[in-house]
Amino acid sequence: MFDDLLDANRRFRAQFHDSGVAGKAAKGLAVLTCIDSRIDPLASLGLRPGDAKIIRNAGARVTDDALRSLVLAVNLLGANRVCVMAHTDCAMAGSTEDQIRARITAARGVDASGWEFLATTDQLATLRDDIELIRACPLMPPDLVVAGFIFDVHTGALTPAIT
Ligand SMILES: [Zn+2]
Repeated sequence: MFDDLLDANRRFRAQFHDSGVAGKAAKGLAVLTCIDSRIDPLASLGLRPGDAKIIRNAGARVTDDALRSLVLAVNLLGANRVCVMAHTDCAMAGSTEDQIRARITAARGVDASGWEFLATTDQLATLRDDIELIRACPLMPPDLVVAGFIFDVHTGALTPAIT
């Protein structure tokens, strides 16, 4: 099932050279974005490996685990600004939690009613609330720069939404 990946990696490593970049975020940046496969965080933000800490989950949500990674990125790994990048046409936006549960229950044939998928019907309000969660975290420095953006998966445009 993974032979294609191993084949690709053989070609990749044949040309790979260790750039020697450190594990810290060279551009002082942490990015939280969605798992949507149309988003290429490095290319869309003009970044290269080594520039930023990239955290991804469905909906680009500030979950406990995303916050855990952000706390580490900011306090130990060189990030001094956080970009939360939601996007257009997100499967987690525009549906209710019950609709997502129903779709998964239908796909799987098992009851998904006990699960939280963090769907939202108001993407901007959710983005604003999530940014507040980062700012309010006691382990974040008071001068941390945090902003929210919407990435358009059809045009590639990044629009500031919450500053
Ligand atoms: Zn998404």
